[in-house]
Amino acid sequence: MILIKSQNEIAQMRQAGRIVAEFLEAIREKIRPGISTAELDAFAYAFITKRNARPAFKGYRGFPASLCTSINSEVVHGIPSPKRILKEGDIISIDVGAIHNGFVGDGAWTFPVGRVSDETQRLLDATEGALMAAIAQARVGKYLEDISGAVQDYAEARGYAVVREYVGHGVGRSMHEEPQIPNYRQGKRGPQLRPGMVLAIEPMVNQGVWQTRTLRDKWTVVTQDGKLSAHFEHTVAVTEGEPEILTRL
Ligand code: MG
Repeated sequence: MILIKSQNEIAQMRQAGRIVAEFLEAIREKIRPGISTAELDAFAYAFITKRNARPAFKGYRGFPASLCTSINSEVVHGIPSPKRILKEGDIISIDVGAIHNGFVGDGAWTFPVGRVSDETQRLLDATEGALMAAIAQARVGKYLEDISGAVQDYAEARGYAVVREYVGHGVGRSMHEEPQIPNYRQGKRGPQLRPGMVLAIEPMVNQGVWQTRTLRDKWTVVTQDGKLSAHFEHTVAVTEGEPEILTRL
């Protein structure tokens, strides 16, 4: 069942989303060659807890950190470590969740580390573009598959592949609510969108093949062919009018 949020609940979710948005702005300044992913994680923990919120990922199914930090061919769920030092030309996907007054905000962004190649930048632009194309479909009367199809069309038209094993999701008091939101068409239009649905839309887009595998740490997901992957996510409320992005300032 898809939980419909009241105006009051969406107002609460706006606050959780704002913490995520402010964090993703703040972390941008920290991302540079020489910093470790553990340092980024420590910054996240301090940033979120100072705002009377809790990092949603810490302890979730045993995940040990406040952030997922996924570098280059890592798709999602990378574990921060003092041994992982960012280098010029890398890309890093930062996925973050904050729980504030019982509601979750969920967002992700892939950042370049220093200067990246044009080819790498094109992947980042295409994945962000796929997210925005999908959000444009988050309107009353559309169907879930319109969101999924928008990601797939945008990414594949630019020569990329969308990850299939991991999906977006409804979000509210729980980080993962119904519906699941695949980033590709599944041949059925799915539920019709209604005001008060809040969706975490999150394309994961690969430079090479769509297939992934999980490393022995049981968390880190990497592309099967070792090519780059990018991940952008916003928490979005379906309204009577324009989609409202809760994790953007
Ligand atoms: Mg998510």
